[in-house]
Amino acid sequence: MPALRKLIKTTGASVLNCLAIDKLIGMGNGARRAPLIVCYHRVVRDFVDSSVHSMPSLLISTEMFEKQLDWLAENYDLVSMDEVMQALNGNRKAGKKQLATITFDDGYVDFYWNAFPILKRKGIASCVFVVTNLVGTENLQTHDELYLMLSLCMSPETPLARIAADTQTKRLVQIIGKQPDPYSAARHILSSFSNSEVIQLIELMRDRIHVSAQHLKELRSLSWSMLRTLSVQGVTIGSHTQSHALLPRYEQTLMEKELAASRRRLELELGMPIKYLAYPDGQFDERTAQAAEAAGYAAAVTTCQHTSTKRPNFALPRRLLWEKSCTNRRDEFSPAIMSCLLNGVFQYPDNCAQDHSVS
Ligand SMILES: [Zn+2]
Ligand SMILES: [Zn+2]
Repeated sequence: MPALRKLIKTTGASVLNCLAIDKLIGMGNGARRAPLIVCYHRVVRDFVDSSVHSMPSLLISTEMFEKQLDWLAENYDLVSMDEVMQALNGNRKAGKKQLATITFDDGYVDFYWNAFPILKRKGIASCVFVVTNLVGTENLQTHDELYLMLSLCMSPETPLARIAADTQTKRLVQIIGKQPDPYSAARHILSSFSNSEVIQLIELMRDRIHVSAQHLKELRSLSWSMLRTLSVQGVTIGSHTQSHALLPRYEQTLMEKELAASRRRLELELGMPIKYLAYPDGQFDERTAQAAEAAGYAAAVTTCQHTSTKRPNFALPRRLLWEKSCTNRRDEFSPAIMSCLLNGVFQYPDNCAQDHSVS
């Protein structure tokens, strides 16, 4: 974020937070009326180190994670997904504090090593949404592998030109040559190419670039035995579909399979009912909400603030948090910015461009 914008945001947040105007705004826009659901992705030991090869906006360091959790625990009543649902369904009395729950998307292995020990020590409930086809495998999510490959082949040590020997590589250079960084290149490729073209590009890079085993290991998913240990210790496990499917783009039968088969697999492996779904990439519409309900889920969470009037429990808004979501211009944790963010002060109507009404 440009320095001036960050300065305005930091100063504005401090003033609004000091006068408690952020909470008033939150009352007005609905952010304080329903329980708060926050969403994290990867929790890593060192943000700077990990952000070289993994999308920064999916990362938070254990240090910043603890600061955000402590602030959340002070300002909210942190509960489980089940307790949030009890409140939403009118079966739980409102307490003094607004309810909040912590969720994690994608089921990265670092939840087990880095996030869970902190949550356990602090006695905070959590919910992890996993991609069932990836659990226990060495396969990575497409966007993660793409970003990793791009970060390696766009790094100063491996200039693209050096590997551009054949026609196919020249094409790759043409595609990403004008992009300033791996993030822009990944966004460009993911938004302009079909899934099979993206996989072809990844394979092209995989053949030409050396990837260390450590990089691959860090981006892996949890295993079934880790998930069993976590669920025995009270972590709620939910589905993030079988293959991280962007559901609104799927034809009906395939969409139903992604929803039902992932739930069934989790129930078989973990021996407990699976009630919750997180739409991959937050993509949903009325058709997917209806299919999620038909597949036996009790609720589904999104990644934006839009909801469904017909099926509100199948479009529960969440707030995305990461390393720099609540920092001031010195990159320090800012409680004022966190409060403003969670109360929807920085929420603009165009934050989400999806059309969720299609049925
Ligand atoms: Zn995801
Ligand atoms: Zn939306």
